Amino acid sequence: MKVLICGAGIAGLTLAWHLERSGWEVELVERAPAFRDGGYMIDFYGPGYEVARAMGLGDRLEQVRYPVTELAYVDRDGRRTSRLTMPPEFAAKVVSLPRGELARAVHDDVRAPVRYGTSVEAADQDRHGVTVRLTDGTERRVDLLVGADGAHSRVRGLAFEQEHPFVRHLGHHVAAYTLTDPELSRRVGDRYEMLTVPGLMAGTYALDGGRLAMLFLRREPDPEPPADPRATLLRHYGDLGWILPEALRHCPDPPGLYHDQVTQVHVDEWSRGRVVLLGDACQAVSLFAGHGASLAMAGARVLADELAAGDVHDALARYHRRMRPVVLEVQRFGRRFVRWMAPSGKWRIAARDAMLRLAALPGGGRIFVGSLINEGHDLISSATDARRG
Ligand SMILES: Cc1cc2nc3c(=O)[nH]c(=O)nc-3n(C[C@H](O)[C@H](O)[C@H](O)COP(=O)(O)OP(=O)(O)OC[C@H]3O[C@@H](n4cnc5c(N)ncnc54)[C@H](O)[C@@H]3O)c2cc1C
Repeated sequence: MKVLICGAGIAGLTLAWHLERSGWEVELVERAPAFRDGGYMIDFYGPGYEVARAMGLGDRLEQVRYPVTELAYVDRDGRRTSRLTMPPEFAAKVVSLPRGELARAVHDDVRAPVRYGTSVEAADQDRHGVTVRLTDGTERRVDLLVGADGAHSRVRGLAFEQEHPFVRHLGHHVAAYTLTDPELSRRVGDRYEMLTVPGLMAGTYALDGGRLAMLFLRREPDPEPPADPRATLLRHYGDLGWILPEALRHCPDPPGLYHDQVTQVHVDEWSRGRVVLLGDACQAVSLFAGHGASLAMAGARVLADELAAGDVHDALARYHRRMRPVVLEVQRFGRRFVRWMAPSGKWRIAARDAMLRLAALPGGGRIFVGSLINEGHDLISSATDARRG
């Protein structure tokens, strides 16, 4: 059986890993000109982490993870207004690392070829297979075409037409980049530090090599990206104080600067005949939910399991049945969390700080962090563990 996977991100690579081990002939196409390293920091935990461990990647992830000992909110002078020490048992369970390191760990264990700088131009299917035309002018005849090409999926556009009914804008834009400045990096240390003012959040975490990972969230009802993302960041954050004036001096233009609207993807059906969606392409939960990478790997594993069990059409239906209810639940959780991660008013910022101070009391951290992590974890486990039916 032959499969073409569009998108060599976390979901696409994880599916490739599993399918090539169950005898499929796998090829991937990736729009980026080369492997996408680095990127924004993610917290990776739950069933996706269990999938990674089952793939033998546990030691590799241990080597590239960063310890986060504390979450701290700071004011414009850099003074901490509230903080939460990570309880050791959660610090051990949550793997914090750049998105690219997770993708790299899977990538290095995949044998299938990845054709970079290439995408899907067109796809025509009949009962027996899909004829795919690639942007390099070549054609493939495959048994299955997988769209693992992220929230703005090209394959979804081809199979299901327009993008807008599926992409739900959550009223925020996100930006991220990595800079090198050993002095700033040392000042931040192994804490995750954040500054919030109504409608704006900036966060940072120190990486090795004197680097800092920067993250910015901004309330913005208009989903359209700004014409000049770097200038927009400088305008909104440039005079907020803390480390931001220095950090923004290092801000690159895209592609070094990642910029996007914060979205969820809601698609009722995940497949059309022999074309199926995977990861953010059909189930983006947004950074507010914090389980996207875990769900991407869990979804890839569930899809691979089902495909190994028999007929393609039945497998796609069962994959959807097992994953979709969980995705809807995690998406609801993500929408509830928006108001706390990027508070819109001063009173909500004060309420959030008060909550963190309560959580900092003995035992409070366990309950607070545990409820955030476990809510999603339990939801996702229920999908990956569910009996096929
Ligand atoms: C700022 C931020 C913070 C986040 N934090 C967390 C977190 O803490 N924890 C967590 O679990 N998740 C987090 N996420 C979500 C997580 O990164 C995603 O859910 C996860 O990467 C989804 O994997 P994916 O493979 O579906 O998509 P992606 O990782 O986006 O991969 C899609 C791939 O497809 C490629 N592609 C795109 N278009 C095309 C095309 N037309 N043709 C060919 N290839 C194409 C892309 O270049 C990319 O390589 C965060 C996301 C953001 C933006």
